[in-house]
Amino acid sequence: MLSLMLLIGESQSAEIAQSAEIEELYNVLKQMGMTSLKRNDVSEIYSRPRVMAYAQKLGLAPGFALDLCTADPNDGTPWDFDVPARRDKVLLRVQTEQPKLLIGSPMCTAFSLLQDLSKGKGNIEEKKRLLARATKHVHFCITLYWERFQNGRYFLHQHPDSATSWQRPAMIQLLMHPDVIRTEGHMCTYGMKFKDAKEEGVVMKPTGWATNSPYIAEQVSVLSSNRWRGTKHRHVHLISGRAKAAEVYPPALCTAILKGLRRQSIADGLMCPKDIGKSVVRNPTYQKI
Ligand SMILES: [Zn+2]
Repeated sequence: MLSLMLLIGESQSAEIAQSAEIEELYNVLKQMGMTSLKRNDVSEIYSRPRVMAYAQKLGLAPGFALDLCTADPNDGTPWDFDVPARRDKVLLRVQTEQPKLLIGSPMCTAFSLLQDLSKGKGNIEEKKRLLARATKHVHFCITLYWERFQNGRYFLHQHPDSATSWQRPAMIQLLMHPDVIRTEGHMCTYGMKFKDAKEEGVVMKPTGWATNSPYIAEQVSVLSSNRWRGTKHRHVHLISGRAKAAEVYPPALCTAILKGLRRQSIADGLMCPKDIGKSVVRNPTYQKI
């Protein structure tokens, strides 16, 4: 299928018309808003542009960022991953564009409800429904991550370090892969700040990560210095609706992830240390056409 994409160029439209199979493929890509393919170094799902917004500054090519707040340019509707057809479209897009790094950060609040469920608190049926929905989204991410191994690409999954989603059988199976690294980082080390009733401070927010890139794992694994040097800085606790605001990655975290991706690409022989805005793609069929 990918080799056929080479044929989809402006100057080759006549040849496309001669082949029903290629024309069918072209129509699929056209519906996805992809009449030409470009390099895609980093893309994000369940997210507005966060990490990819800094990509060009580090000589990397931004791809896509899809979540409920972003609209599909083809029909103007949001990327609602509750809809199976939307998930299929994203899977096809990931398979087609092959971003070097795919970052997934599905909704996580439902997984903190398990404790309440075990204590019989609140509307149990409603919480079970929310949990089932959230689990479905984590499973969707995992499906996309497995696809990464088949193509020698990378993923980075983010969820709260204490979330019970890490204990789901499908996640455990992923974590058991010898190339996958499960690690933890603290947001205070990347400068995540908030102001509580007292004054501004940094937010620790223990964050869990899983990735198949050792270079990216190293970058996201920085822990608070308070752990071994006593209280050197004041942590602001995320309460009273502040958790939503903490979904915004600090710039230092975004650039750390991208530095990891650059180092990984250099280690893979796909990029030179002095490259700015240039990198070698693993499969030449993805060159811009
Ligand atoms: Zn700290």
